[in-house]
Amino acid sequence: MGCESCSGGSCSTDGGKDGLPPGMLQQYDLNQSTADGGLVWIETVVQGDSIRISDVSVQLLGKLRKMSDARLFGVLFGGPEVKPLYDEIFSYGVDTLYHVRTRGPSVYRPEVYADCLADVSNRVNPAVILIGGTLRGREIAPRLAASLSTGLTADCTELSMDGRDLLMTRPAFGGNIIATISATSFPQMATLRPDIFPMPEPEIGRKGTVIYREPVCSKQKEIISSVMKKTSEIDISKAKVLISLGNGVRRSSVETAERIASKLGGMVSCSRSLVDKGWMPMSRQVGQSGRSVSPDIYIAFGISGSVQHKAGINSAKKIIAVNIDPDAPIKDVCDEFIVGDADLILEELDRRLS
Ligand SMILES: Cc1cc2nc3c(=O)[nH]c(=O)nc-3n(C[C@H](O)[C@H](O)[C@H](O)COP(=O)(O)OP(=O)(O)OC[C@H]3O[C@@H](n4cnc5c(N)ncnc54)[C@H](O)[C@@H]3O)c2cc1C
Repeated sequence: MGCESCSGGSCSTDGGKDGLPPGMLQQYDLNQSTADGGLVWIETVVQGDSIRISDVSVQLLGKLRKMSDARLFGVLFGGPEVKPLYDEIFSYGVDTLYHVRTRGPSVYRPEVYADCLADVSNRVNPAVILIGGTLRGREIAPRLAASLSTGLTADCTELSMDGRDLLMTRPAFGGNIIATISATSFPQMATLRPDIFPMPEPEIGRKGTVIYREPVCSKQKEIISSVMKKTSEIDISKAKVLISLGNGVRRSSVETAERIASKLGGMVSCSRSLVDKGWMPMSRQVGQSGRSVSPDIYIAFGISGSVQHKAGINSAKKIIAVNIDPDAPIKDVCDEFIVGDADLILEELDRRLS
């Protein structure tokens, strides 16, 4: 059925007797052994009056497209306000977009989102489901995996495909090893942090199909009211320059680093040691249990370079480290390694930038 509102290509409602769009039965047998293609939850971000696709969703679409030519499904939630996003979603490689018509992206309930994603997954039988490792993604993914009776590999740092098999790489055993995991059940599910993969180039004018779905919900709870917490925390994942501090610096160096960062138009981040000491908030922590960052320049002062810390700086374009230990492990991932006292160098840098 054609539809005016679908600007990107053909559009249909999914009301068939068997729940599948025309032509799909020949392509997709619901027997699990024929699971094929990939499905990505398209997370949206509301900014003032506008709405956009989250960067991590775009990055996951780009990665899936690069790994496989199989059919790519997207699932988008929201009202009419998300329709202008169709074209962009198709341009990143989605062939079929399931638009679940909820009352708007602000009406978010993880159990409803998980139920709807399960509903779409049961229809299209994907081999792979990818979810952004955002706050919402981390709420939805385990619920979805449980309802599909499949496994979930959370917080992956790399993905590759071997035929239909998804190889999911992530730190394991407290970061002491990097494990590559393959699933024993379909769909193979993984969450990935923002900014692990690059943003792909859009293919402008690419067409796709939109299928509308109404929300389904097992109605386990009712939200009586919700209050949005206002926060002034900065987002280190967006910084172009990061001055990052570790256990090897004095407390007074936090202030010095803030001054340097503001002179360079950057931000201050840290290793977990400084969060544990209470010197910096969790939102500034870089690494496996903190944020993944992708600045143009990452300068690590007094950070040893544990596996967990390094997991968060894979995408930094240039890494400079200052450490008194000439053999500190961070040296292995550095472009420039400076042996010296971090506090003294921070003070000198601050003076020179003035
Ligand atoms: C499950 C799990 C998750 C974790 N997640 C994270 C995470 O997300 N992020 C993270 O950072 N850590 C994480 N950790 C902790 C991680 O294992 C390390 O303990 C931590 O990264 C160490 O921080 P650091 O390098 O600042 O401190 P240290 O390992 O104590 O290193 C301090 C460094 O400073 C150098 N130094 C000392 N004095 C000076 C000086 N005056 N000038 C210059 N250099 C000096 C030392 O030579 C040393 O290399 C995690 C751990 C676990 C088990």
